[in-house]
Amino acid sequence: MSDVSPVTPVNLLGLSLPKLEAFFESIGEKKFRAAQVVKWIHQQGVTDIDAMTNLAKPLREKLKAIAEVRPPIITFQGDSEDGTRKWLMQVDGGSSIETVFIPEGDRGTLCVSSQVGCSLDCSFCATGKQGFNKNLTAAEIIGQVFLAAKSFGLPIKESQKRAVTNVVMMGMGEPLLNFEPVLDAMSLMMEDQAYGLSKRRVTLSTSGVVPALDRLGEATDVALAVSLHAPNDALRNELVPINRKYPLAQLLDSIRRYLDRLGERRAVTFEYTMLKGINDSDEQARELSRLAKTVRCKINLIPFNPFPGTQYEVSSRNRIYAFQRILLNDGHVVTVRKTRGDDIDAACGQLAGQVADKTKRSSRYIQLRDVTSPVPH
Ligand code: SAH
Ligand code: SF4
Repeated sequence: MSDVSPVTPVNLLGLSLPKLEAFFESIGEKKFRAAQVVKWIHQQGVTDIDAMTNLAKPLREKLKAIAEVRPPIITFQGDSEDGTRKWLMQVDGGSSIETVFIPEGDRGTLCVSSQVGCSLDCSFCATGKQGFNKNLTAAEIIGQVFLAAKSFGLPIKESQKRAVTNVVMMGMGEPLLNFEPVLDAMSLMMEDQAYGLSKRRVTLSTSGVVPALDRLGEATDVALAVSLHAPNDALRNELVPINRKYPLAQLLDSIRRYLDRLGERRAVTFEYTMLKGINDSDEQARELSRLAKTVRCKINLIPFNPFPGTQYEVSSRNRIYAFQRILLNDGHVVTVRKTRGDDIDAACGQLAGQVADKTKRSSRYIQLRDVTSPVPH
């Protein structure tokens, strides 16, 4: 046996600019190398250290011995008729995650995953029903942006003009339960030397992990979306179980603190998935309206996306518009999300990937489905 153990290479893809600067200093190199390498990777799409030609050859050799640039592996790419593009990507450990690109006018929104599966088990969410497998690394999170941007052509910086203009952390997983990697990845999204997106074009969506939301406010000022789905604690406890730990009053206080740091004109987006007969009555719209008046917000009504085995149905179009009308009449800004990418199963809540469940929730789920779903014919 050799006494030298093999060194795990550092994946430069996931290092924020400050972390890459610290890395170069730690190997006795100048800090400014970091900006050069960040540009090679994130603006030129380069993964081969040898292609980083403004680094002297000895430095490239030194880097190659200890580092790598390794994105996830694309195992599937599908294009919908409406321009929506979906990828399945394999990450370390062998599981798959999903990433979706949704073009709309001048805008191109990339929906990025933060975990493989999710431990929070919201009752209407396909990801949650699969259980939790692992936190993604920063390289695996920013790697989704890297690969999506690259698929639209090189150099990435130029192709950005018609491709990824916005990123939403609304794919698989709860981003606030994978705090530091998510922060590092978002910092690269906003870094001028990398993707250069403005803080208003990077959105973190959370189901309401209050202590982590408070920490987020100290660390960054990205746009915030909160998955509300119910106008009171009794119903929210059922739909979004984390509410039992951090009920609405605490969540709303935390959102207000976050917004206070951002300044006057920023608002939270409340996501509200429309579930037939569950959260879509006129009375619930009025209750939601009262709640929404206590914080600067926009409301986004999301038609529920059914998935095999779910007990829920989507509200009718008329019901959604009636619900919206009540909120509009009360002066709220309310949008209804368009359903996109149906032909490739790219919609929210269908981002299931391939999760090797470590919590064994999916087997419980299958048992439940066997009992409740009609026999197929
Ligand atoms: N964990 C984070 C982000 C990922 S989920 C969160 O919960 O906010 C992104 C959004 O899709 C959330 O608002 C989530 O509630 C919603 N969603 C989940 N399953 C859905 C489904 N089947 N139909 C419609 N929206 C769904
Ligand atoms: Fe997790 Fe978000 Fe799905 Fe809830 S809605 S289970 S927090 S991914």
